[in-house]
Amino acid sequence: MKHTPPPRPVPALPEANHAIVIGAGLGGLASAMRLGAKGWRVTVIDRLDRVGGRGSSITQGGHRFDLGPTIVTVPQGLRDLWAACGRDFDRDVRLVPMDPFYEIRWEDGSTFTMRQDEAAMKAEVARLSPGDLKGYEKFLNDSEKRYWFGFEDLGRRPMHKLMDLIKVLPTFVRMRADRSVYAHAAGRVSDPRLRFALSFHPLFIGGDPFNVTSMYILVSHLEKAFGVHYAMGGVQAIAEGMAQVVAAQGGEVVSQTEVDEIVVEDGRAAGVRLVSGEVIRAGLVVSNADAGHTYTRLLRNLPRKRWTDAKLKRSRWSMGLYVWYFGTKGTREMWRDVGHHSIVVGPRYREHIKDIFIRGKLADDMSLYVHRPSVTDPSCAPEGDDTFYVLSPVPHLGFSNGVNWAEEEPRYRSKMAKMLEDRLIPGFRDKITEEITFTPETFRDRYLSPLGAGFSIEPRILQSAWFRPHNVSEELPGLYLAGAGTHPGAGLPGVVGTAEVLGKLVPDAPRRVAEIRELRMAAE
Ligand SMILES: Cc1cc2nc3c(=O)[nH]c(=O)nc-3n(C[C@H](O)[C@H](O)[C@H](O)COP(=O)(O)OP(=O)(O)OC[C@H]3O[C@@H](n4cnc5c(N)ncnc54)[C@H](O)[C@@H]3O)c2cc1C
Repeated sequence: MKHTPPPRPVPALPEANHAIVIGAGLGGLASAMRLGAKGWRVTVIDRLDRVGGRGSSITQGGHRFDLGPTIVTVPQGLRDLWAACGRDFDRDVRLVPMDPFYEIRWEDGSTFTMRQDEAAMKAEVARLSPGDLKGYEKFLNDSEKRYWFGFEDLGRRPMHKLMDLIKVLPTFVRMRADRSVYAHAAGRVSDPRLRFALSFHPLFIGGDPFNVTSMYILVSHLEKAFGVHYAMGGVQAIAEGMAQVVAAQGGEVVSQTEVDEIVVEDGRAAGVRLVSGEVIRAGLVVSNADAGHTYTRLLRNLPRKRWTDAKLKRSRWSMGLYVWYFGTKGTREMWRDVGHHSIVVGPRYREHIKDIFIRGKLADDMSLYVHRPSVTDPSCAPEGDDTFYVLSPVPHLGFSNGVNWAEEEPRYRSKMAKMLEDRLIPGFRDKITEEITFTPETFRDRYLSPLGAGFSIEPRILQSAWFRPHNVSEELPGLYLAGAGTHPGAGLPGVVGTAEVLGKLVPDAPRRVAEIRELRMAAE
């Protein structure tokens, strides 16, 4: 993309109460809501044609394909966000609890059904491996402890000061945060299937289970305590609900508009320059674009101390994703044992993960996550039909032995189809009427995601909390960051959390401060 000089002069008077949010992902919209609640007039700018970022959808041939997040955990985070804006989340969005949460299927025909009910879960563990019941109970206990520390404490407070990190280091040490999620699970249970079932969750936020800090075992408690939900209308409905709150606060969302650069004036963020060359001024800028894109592209002309191009290149990025979205005709009564969420496990775990994260090799085998929302939400498919997506983690685009997706894609899709035919939905290929595929190249081009990564910077211990790009930019006063690449990280609860942290760091709008001062003076 070429740098375009501004065609018109920047207006002299800064818009002191105006804030710009670059990106209408869930983290960007949640930030806009938090800013609106602090009196800022917010303009959200996104290059896509609809809100939601990775949580948006494409409708084709009567099928609504929810492109990204499907599992909504910790609905309280969303309820808190709405409440902070004086609104009721449940009036705007309908969440339905999933029971079961999901089913895992292995090659040998064995299955494991995840549920919220503790007794049912223990029965499932005992069915697979009775000797692991005690270890499973201990694992749940470990998970709860990490939830209170990692999610409720660390995940909700700013982590941009080194002192914040130093204060929590003893707890990290005590909780053996240096160990991986897999190592922790393997220390508690011995059955390889259970080890998988208790350790695969980091993949949902772009982490390698064999390297990501064991703090992330907190997900098991989080699911058990708050359930797993689906948003009727898809996560798109949550994003649209957020955009409506922003509008009700006096803000606006501008779609199909790309920001080319953050405008720097007098050493601080003063607005944005669009690809069209237009400059929009603001008292404050939040970037919900990927942290890597924010620094290497939107601040390309700013000398940077910490987030240099070289440092970002050296960082470990989350894996890429290959996603096949398809609609099938007249299948609603078929595959009755296939629910809303299924995980079909391939023959290898550790070595397969190594292929993806370390070797950068597109393997012949795969493990699949299958989404069939038409089981729960008839609005996503024509009557009697099904809407599916099937996702396979793959290497990102940054390896020297990179995958040639133009060549590989048809081959990879055929392998995926065979696995689905054999293990989950026989005969589905003949029923397909609509399809779309996303490779890591689509992620790079659609979301401007560095290396086409599915979830930004990988949540390894030395890339988490203080080590992650900060919510209040280290490089430029007046710039804040929200979304998967900043603290606390990826996933819906994570990016909604980035907005909560941001809300604690951003000052009230100048007009609001003046109003409060006047009210105080009147009261005195
Ligand atoms: C396939 C998939 C499945 C997932 N499943 C789950 C799940 O089940 N549960 C869960 O909790 N999480 C899940 N996640 C993770 C979750 O979706 C993401 O972590 C989260 O949605 C990221 O939100 P974000 O705020 O970081 O922004 P993003 O969604 O990345 O949005 C950023 C937005 O910024 C825009 N943008 C970027 N640069 C510019 C620019 N220069 N100018 C204008 N606009 C710009 C982009 O167009 C985009 O719309 C999944 C992710 C994927 C990809």
